[in-house]
Amino acid sequence: AITALGAALGALGGLGWIDFRRRDQSLMARLSRALAREELTLVYQPVVDVADERIVAAEALIRWWSNGDFIPPDVFIALAEQRGMAGQITRYVLDHVIQEMGETLRLHRDFRITINVTASDLNDPKFLAAIEEGLHYAQIEPEQIGIELTERSAADSHAAIEGIARLRARGHSVYIDDFGTGYSSLSYLGELKVDALKMDRAFTRTVGTDAVTVSIVPQIIDMATKHKLAIVAEGIETEAQAAYFRGLPVRILGQGWFYGRPVSAPRLIKRLEQQDGIIALRKHRKKNRP
Ligand code: C2E
Ligand code: MG
Ligand code: MG
Ligand code: MG
Repeated sequence: AITALGAALGALGGLGWIDFRRRDQSLMARLSRALAREELTLVYQPVVDVADERIVAAEALIRWWSNGDFIPPDVFIALAEQRGMAGQITRYVLDHVIQEMGETLRLHRDFRITINVTASDLNDPKFLAAIEEGLHYAQIEPEQIGIELTERSAADSHAAIEGIARLRARGHSVYIDDFGTGYSSLSYLGELKVDALKMDRAFTRTVGTDAVTVSIVPQIIDMATKHKLAIVAEGIETEAQAAYFRGLPVRILGQGWFYGRPVSAPRLIKRLEQQDGIIALRKHRKKNRP
């Protein structure tokens, strides 16, 4: 009878659910430990001006390898958000960006790093203090740390809107991440008081195909331009997609494997230095032209 009862409960999914909770709890316990031991790392993906492919910014992305297993950020960040641990991750990222990229940011005043945050960070005094401390420590400008926020969290609440306004008042740029995947967005674009849109890679994917959604790309760009928002096209993987964005009459920033995969800080810094070298060479040639 007991085994029958067990089987019945198992069939109801009750035991499976307990398993899930255990697994999530142990994952979050491991995450806490990994954060404390500084086992998570950051990679940086370049953002370029599609016109000349010059790197103008980079996005910091977190990586977690746990005992040889790669745990995707989408997975542990969603869980961390549910468990109230999102703030810890954001501060971890911020601290490591300052450590790894502070000097580079100081040397390249027109270069910036963007970090991903969640709505709960916006009004978290610890987060606001940590940014201020980081800027002061690295001697960099608020313009050099950009804040990425998904459309969903940006439109979330009055508090979120106030948080965004506060960050902008302090000089940070606020980017709406994965734009187009949240609400029926175009209509309320004007109400979002932000600096830039990152158009989700789902739209970039339609460029050059005959998918119905193709027409949405120029619409998003038109609306963004009207509202004086900068535009970052995400997920550019092919030369054809790059050519499409290059061909548009407005300034477009691009991010994607075509321009560069996310890389470690030293590798990104090397790319920036090469870029500087090329520019110095160009200037030198111009000056010495007969
Ligand atoms: P996201 O902020 O939209 O980041 C861009 C994601 O697209 C990254 O995945 C990046 O590796 C990927 N990607 C970039 N270019 C291409 C491309 O050309 N093709 C394809 N197929 N993918 C491309 P990743 O690093 O796995 O991050 C996934 C999401 O996890 C991020 O989306 C972001 O929402 C979240 N995330 C990552 N790092 C952090 C973090 O430090 N804090 C927070 N709160 N969220 C993070
Ligand atoms: Mg992002
Ligand atoms: Mg994105
Ligand atoms: Mg994304």
